[in-house]
Amino acid sequence: MTDTAPAPLPTAPASAAQRDAHLPLNRRRLIAPGPVEVEPRVLLELAQPQMHHRAPEGVETLQEARRKLALLLGAPYDAVITTSSGTGAFEGALVSLTPEGGRVVNAQAGKFSERWGEMARRLGYDTSIVARPWGDVLDPEEVADAARDAHTLLITHSETSTGALHDLEAVTKAAKALNPDLIVIADCVTSYGVAELRPAEWSVDAIVSGSQKGTATPPGLGFVLFSPEVQARMVKDTGRGFYLDLTRELKGQKAGNTPQTPAINLISALSLALDRLLAVPLEVLWAEKRRQADALIAAGEALGAPTWAPRTTPAVAVLRPPAPLTGRQVSARLAEMGQRALPGQAPHEDAVFRVSTLGYADRYDALGIAGMLEDAFASLGARFTRGAAVRAAWEALG
Ligand SMILES: *Cc1c(COP(=O)(O)O)cnc(C)c1O
Repeated sequence: MTDTAPAPLPTAPASAAQRDAHLPLNRRRLIAPGPVEVEPRVLLELAQPQMHHRAPEGVETLQEARRKLALLLGAPYDAVITTSSGTGAFEGALVSLTPEGGRVVNAQAGKFSERWGEMARRLGYDTSIVARPWGDVLDPEEVADAARDAHTLLITHSETSTGALHDLEAVTKAAKALNPDLIVIADCVTSYGVAELRPAEWSVDAIVSGSQKGTATPPGLGFVLFSPEVQARMVKDTGRGFYLDLTRELKGQKAGNTPQTPAINLISALSLALDRLLAVPLEVLWAEKRRQADALIAAGEALGAPTWAPRTTPAVAVLRPPAPLTGRQVSARLAEMGQRALPGQAPHEDAVFRVSTLGYADRYDALGIAGMLEDAFASLGARFTRGAAVRAAWEALG
């Protein structure tokens, strides 16, 4: 028996900040198109005792990860893992597949695709641009015509800045019909492991991605997957760059070693993350990510926030908020709610906001995001029928 009265129940919190104060800071949820949420056991893998990359277990780890990266592509391509983000991998692919002074055509319609044109120019290539306005999709015939006498075509499959999914198959086929020797390098940073991607059938020569997007691993690794055919055409001495000489790197990695020290801990974590993605057939993986994106898009439509692009990527929903709301306001309000979304990329910060189930996220995350969008929009004064976005998302999930 004790004579102390039980502690009174806490009173209702005064604010959302107070309500959530007990949550650790890292409870902030990433709903941006990279870096993405990471499976806990993948994070824990980074805490394993340090292995040596030249010891048998290090070699085995590298080879396992490379094998699984090719499986995730569904094609007999050879993977090179770079210790860089996706941009470094892209630079390596470009210099390793294009001789000095070679003619490069860059197809662009957004922030990321613009980057590759600038990269090619700075690397001294004879660079020309075939552009569409942000939000548009590329026209296959227009790109093919521009790449008629090019050595290399740079194209972005899933344009994360606008939410467009370009028709990589149609563009590549049209371009190669006019120029059979063309080498096509595709930025698949947010489509690899996410959107339907059949490089062998579409004859795309090199696929580039990075660890912090669809493969749901911390940032720090880039990947290039080379077709068997293009490997015979790799530049022997790039003349530009040493660290990102992927001709040398591919030769080493095929033999189980890397010329430099790889981020072996990240590679080990990546290998675990790939196991989860490869647990279902690729078609199932792609269809589920498609449904999750469709749910976010349906939620946006219910709130008067339609997509920007006419052909949308499953990697991210890029939505135009109804005036007077701006993309920056919506993403700032989501941040106050503990959700890390993104506004548009400069100069379109206010035109759109971006939410995503890329990475370690499922259909219930999509439903949750629909609910958060309702809360964010309601608190910003938007008028809509409560529950409409959640219902629309639910229906889209099927
Ligand atoms: C994130 C992203 C990149 C850049 O990748 P980093 O890993 O940040 O270098 C390139 N292209 C697209 C489409 C992206 O989404």
